[in-house]
Amino acid sequence: MYRSHNCGELRETHQQSQVTLSGWVQTVRDKGFVVWADLRDRYGITQLIFDEERSSKEIMEIAKSLGREFVIQVKGTVIERASKNPNIPTGNVEVLVSEIKILNKSLVPPFTIEDQTDGGEDIRMKFRYLDIRRNPVKNNLIFRHKVAIEVRKYLSDQGFIEVETPYLIKSTPEGARDFVVPSRMNEGQFYALPQSPQTFKQLLMVGGMDKYFQIVKCFRDEDLRADRQPEFTQIDCEMAFVEQEDILNIFEGLTRHLLKEIKGVSIDKFPRMTYDEAMKKYGNDKPDIRFGMEFGELNAIAQHKDFGIFNEAELVVGIAIPGGAAYTRKEIDALVDWVRRPQIGAKGMVYAKYNEDGSFKSSVDKFYDQEDLAKWAEVTGAKAGDLICVLSGDANKTRTQLSALRMEIAQRLGLRKKNEFAPLWVIDFPLLELDEETGHYHAMHHPFTSPKPGQLELLDTDPGAVKANAYDLVLNGNEIGGGSIRIHDKQIQSTMFRHLGFSPEEAKAQFGFLMDAFQYGAPPHGGLAFGLDRLVAILGGQETIRDFIAFPKNNSGRDVMIDAPAPIDDLQLKELHLKLDL
Ligand code: ASP
Repeated sequence: MYRSHNCGELRETHQQSQVTLSGWVQTVRDKGFVVWADLRDRYGITQLIFDEERSSKEIMEIAKSLGREFVIQVKGTVIERASKNPNIPTGNVEVLVSEIKILNKSLVPPFTIEDQTDGGEDIRMKFRYLDIRRNPVKNNLIFRHKVAIEVRKYLSDQGFIEVETPYLIKSTPEGARDFVVPSRMNEGQFYALPQSPQTFKQLLMVGGMDKYFQIVKCFRDEDLRADRQPEFTQIDCEMAFVEQEDILNIFEGLTRHLLKEIKGVSIDKFPRMTYDEAMKKYGNDKPDIRFGMEFGELNAIAQHKDFGIFNEAELVVGIAIPGGAAYTRKEIDALVDWVRRPQIGAKGMVYAKYNEDGSFKSSVDKFYDQEDLAKWAEVTGAKAGDLICVLSGDANKTRTQLSALRMEIAQRLGLRKKNEFAPLWVIDFPLLELDEETGHYHAMHHPFTSPKPGQLELLDTDPGAVKANAYDLVLNGNEIGGGSIRIHDKQIQSTMFRHLGFSPEEAKAQFGFLMDAFQYGAPPHGGLAFGLDRLVAILGGQETIRDFIAFPKNNSGRDVMIDAPAPIDDLQLKELHLKLDL
């Protein structure tokens, strides 16, 4: 028996009992005649004591030879500690060691296994198994487990069945590139790893499973923007015989359950906002509504004066920064520089201070009088003491730029409080999105999403205006998940493929199996998927999903610990019928 108790378990009530513990040596303090060592495992830390009077010479010697991260087993008696440590649960006791065995030695770890470590990100990722011994990482993994368990509990209680779907499949269109896997047995042919189980879950609905879920890995080969992983985890769900309302209710319930169980936060009905409204008010389809600073559109009041820049703009739009009237000239210039950075891309920024005395001072006083500026304040909701910041230009771009400014300011003002949770549904997404480079439309969600009833005809005349039965759940400015009511009719699905530029042959080659299935009694169905990594990170009050993934990849998609991806040898290439041409 390696242990009778774990290292987080012993209390005063265990005094005088004989125990066996196993774990890692966290620290050793050698005072000559006494040696203390902290023994650590997943459950906590217990202090061990060895002393000349009570421990044998042999044991003292071993104690003195212990190094950090040695794995040891000890037997001993639980005794009261002379100087107690109120900071740890076992802090009132220690174990007087009577037997010790070194189970395994350790090299000196490349960084300290402490909450505040001296190891930078790169070295911690290379030795991730050591990093996982640290509380912050360990606790995040335990936290993730708790969330996953609550998800499974809730969905099972609602009658969902977890069904696994294959990883070696054919392309699923979720808008990214596929990772592909060559097939040895089928010369010259490749599997694709699923970007999501989308088509399979729809087939499960045709198969009558009615309510499906799966906590599942998805694979997307995309340029890794900050905090994305090429493989990530979804809570993937699908339901038959449902309308949008049914789905929103179930998954609002799931989110509410998680907030309650994990964070102790109760939230009433989640607000709903159409995509158009979200774009208009926040310039963003995943608005952070923990704070205000809603957009005010100024075209009607700021155009047709003598200010050419505004007159030529498709959109003139502003926000009010609380307390911003107190900013110095230098601070405002810095803001202007911020929006002009290439990442944001605004040409400039007009501003108006709404002074505490009720007067206005703007960067465009030449064109706008006090009365004009008072109207700006009204539209942007500015109060005395605020700073009105205005951007102008192409509507979409300007909204995106102002949204970035809004988020930046909120961050600086501490308005993005991590223990505040503001979920909402964004609904009525456009069905199609114009790719400005190619001039073609592609599915905004995916090609299986159904248009709103009665809008099919619009596809021919005004494709950009067609709205979909598609929805996203947004939490604190992050898209937690999204889904749609699907097309379940072969004809409509073919029409959709045609509009997306697939020839009938291409559609058949890629998705014939799904359209065939639709001919055998496909029920109306819909679903969604939540990103588990992001959800866990937000519930955990942290920024990066990497911190909640045991073995994440870096920004170049590499696992630096196992050193992957890596070349394969010639024999393997040959077996796979592959030739490299680099
Ligand atoms: N498959 C979709 C996605 O990965 C989710 C869904 O439509 O259910 O985003």
